[in-house]
Amino acid sequence: MTSTALRGRAWKLLEMVTTPLLPSDYLDLVSPLRAGADLRGRIEAVHPETSDAATVVIRPGRGWRGHTAGQYVRIGVDVDGVRLWRAYSITSPTNRQDGRVTITVKAIPDGKVSNHLVRRAKPGTLIQLDQPTGDFVLPQAKPAKVLYLTAGSGITPVMGMLRDTEFDDVVMVHCAPQPQDVIFRNELHDLVADKKLRLTEVHTDTDGMLDIARLDELVPDWAERETWACGPAGLLDAAEKHWSEHGVPERLHTERFRPSIVVAGDGGEVTFSATGKTVDADGATPLLDIGEEAGVLMPSGCRMGICFGCITPLKAGAVRDLRTGEITEAEAGVLIQTCVSAAAGPCDIDR
Ligand SMILES: Cc1cc2nc3c(=O)[nH]c(=O)nc-3n(C[C@H](O)[C@H](O)[C@H](O)COP(=O)(O)OP(=O)(O)OC[C@H]3O[C@@H](n4cnc5c(N)ncnc54)[C@H](O)[C@@H]3O)c2cc1C
Repeated sequence: MTSTALRGRAWKLLEMVTTPLLPSDYLDLVSPLRAGADLRGRIEAVHPETSDAATVVIRPGRGWRGHTAGQYVRIGVDVDGVRLWRAYSITSPTNRQDGRVTITVKAIPDGKVSNHLVRRAKPGTLIQLDQPTGDFVLPQAKPAKVLYLTAGSGITPVMGMLRDTEFDDVVMVHCAPQPQDVIFRNELHDLVADKKLRLTEVHTDTDGMLDIARLDELVPDWAERETWACGPAGLLDAAEKHWSEHGVPERLHTERFRPSIVVAGDGGEVTFSATGKTVDADGATPLLDIGEEAGVLMPSGCRMGICFGCITPLKAGAVRDLRTGEITEAEAGVLIQTCVSAAAGPCDIDR
């Protein structure tokens, strides 16, 4: 008998002994980060950064494939007994020697996962991990001049880049309400002192929101710079328009943390037929939120329509894509992204 067949037999025997649990369930208890297990990570530390942001240090399990600077990871966290998935940019450099990675989370008002991670997560907690992904990354060939344009928690993927790759000429324009709200402020100022970065902080409580036209004054050669921008939709929309109007849209790379919702319509009664629940929904709230609110187990991912972690069959009725207004009607095999779809009349989704 080959060793693979022997191993298969031994595993079958173990299954008989451990029924109703699987042997892997026991292994999960003693060695949750082992190779071959579902990818998990262990929170090893949580370091406060500002009054509402913290860096979470995670030791990924054996299957972790590593990331490229600027990418994000989806994590599954249990909050009050419910597994919730969210995306977070990786803030550690790719060459960190101890094999650990960091994400940096800003708690937003009423935010379930962000508040849990910033204020309640404890070292030792296991979380679920996905492989890192995303195309908000640096190119192979180093650009001669770089601009990082960021606001609030949008600094996180850029910090991953700054810690990873040095450039000869890097300028950063970062917006935050007040100096004490600037995440990584000390580290940024150290880079400035070492002449590795030129930094302009815009403190929006006193300076007002950044008018994108001010870039001419703050960074006169902005149009020549390869630019990575991450922040609220208002800033990114303005930047995309500005770069396009100046004929250099290809120099601007953006990362959004939330979808731009442009269209809402009438809602309707939503039936989650697998769970047997029916609730009223307005035409602006994603079905993912409606389902979670109603206690329905909803798969989810980035919550902004890019990862397809939330796709669900639409059994009856119609839904509206909140980004485009496009209506999808139920027919055999139709799948919808619940994170960017709202009810467009009565509908039935298979959850
Ligand atoms: C690619 C990607 C990378 C990301 N990287 C980071 C990161 O590095 N650091 C970080 O802190 N966050 C990051 N996010 C956002 C993060 O995934 C969560 O959306 C955020 O933490 C809020 O989750 P929550 O569970 O606390 O809020 P929820 O409980 O989902 O939402 C609570 C309320 O806040 C609103 N809301 C949701 N998200 C935001 C938001 N980003 N800003 C303002 N209001 C919001 C909701 O509409 C709702 O009304 C990233 C998102 C994406 C898609």
